[in-house]
Amino acid sequence: MVELQYLLDRSEKQLEGVHATIANKAIELVKKAYNKGIAIAVTQGYRSIEYQNSLYAIGRFGNSGKKVTNAKGGSSYHNFGLAFDFCVFDDNKQPVWDGKEYSIIGQMGKDMGLEWGGDFKSIKDKPHFQITFGLTLSQLQAGKRPAGSATPTPVKKSNLLEKGASGFTVKDLQEKLIKLGYAIGKVDSEFGKLTDEAVRKFQKDNCLDADGIAGKATLAKIDELVKALTNTPTQAIKVEKAPATETKAEVIKAPPTPQKTTSGDDKVKSIQSRLNTQYATKLDVDGLYGKATKQALVKALQTELNKQYNAKLKVDGAFGKATKAKCPTVRKGAKGDITYVIQAALTCLGYDANGLDGMYGAGLEKAVKQFQKAKGLSADGIVGKDTFEKLLG
Ligand SMILES: [Zn+2]
Repeated sequence: MVELQYLLDRSEKQLEGVHATIANKAIELVKKAYNKGIAIAVTQGYRSIEYQNSLYAIGRFGNSGKKVTNAKGGSSYHNFGLAFDFCVFDDNKQPVWDGKEYSIIGQMGKDMGLEWGGDFKSIKDKPHFQITFGLTLSQLQAGKRPAGSATPTPVKKSNLLEKGASGFTVKDLQEKLIKLGYAIGKVDSEFGKLTDEAVRKFQKDNCLDADGIAGKATLAKIDELVKALTNTPTQAIKVEKAPATETKAEVIKAPPTPQKTTSGDDKVKSIQSRLNTQYATKLDVDGLYGKATKQALVKALQTELNKQYNAKLKVDGAFGKATKAKCPTVRKGAKGDITYVIQAALTCLGYDANGLDGMYGAGLEKAVKQFQKAKGLSADGIVGKDTFEKLLG
């Protein structure tokens, strides 16, 4: 019989990313089966949705081969780390895909609280176990998770998330880096050369030690920026009707003298960093508002006009006639990435835009009025084509 340690090692490798409760049961099952004289190992645990789609494509869409699965990405419990497959091994470490052993193991797993694929109504899947925790696939697809899912199995090779590491935590890191616009090749759960380069670049862009180790500070920064990305509403510029009459005569204070930022401003740094991650603008994150940052803001605006208004502009960072013509009217109540660009431009010019949250509130309106007054525009607090031009042209 094959050595137990071989089966355990093989299994553990496959269980990265599998829910801890299920992973522990899988290991227990391998041991129990071994005690009964059956050599099994886990052959598959967590499958990324992308990988599942590539499996689904085998034997379909004109691809060669026999169909291997009926599950598209996201429609298998494997995609959520809630399932594993096992295989019986003969004395020569060769897999045996058939035999009465499968039913014996099936019963053994069920006694341990696992759901067995051999009991499936439609397509029986004897090498498959899962625990759904009462969650349907649509609930999982919608983002629901059982308790404990967030606990990834530890990366074994190195405690540090650096070159040479592998596993679920690397995969998570790679996916986040891609979201932030860093090229890492493909998500393969292996911390190789490209991931190393991307981490160093990210660190450099964000004024962190560029050591290639995704430690606490780096991961915190990555999470912060990913969160900022997902929390940013991308659509919905609310265009309200202009009030018929201006009822309250508002006192508009004199505009502030825009400070020349020589030492590098933290707010400008955060703007540069966000432009880099969201619009791949490759700015130096130095906190200095110069030509490059202004062009990057224009690129952001052009990108959003294309995305939200199908403006079909060339994203060149130059605020020309075509861009001006496509600028919408943005006023109090609006929210989204275009409002963010307005806030960012005003902030870079030294105005207090009352945050960088993409929300057009009273604070931003006030800053717009101050800016308009300073530029000789009618100070209505509404950003139209002329105000856009003064801001970014
Ligand atoms: Zn399976």
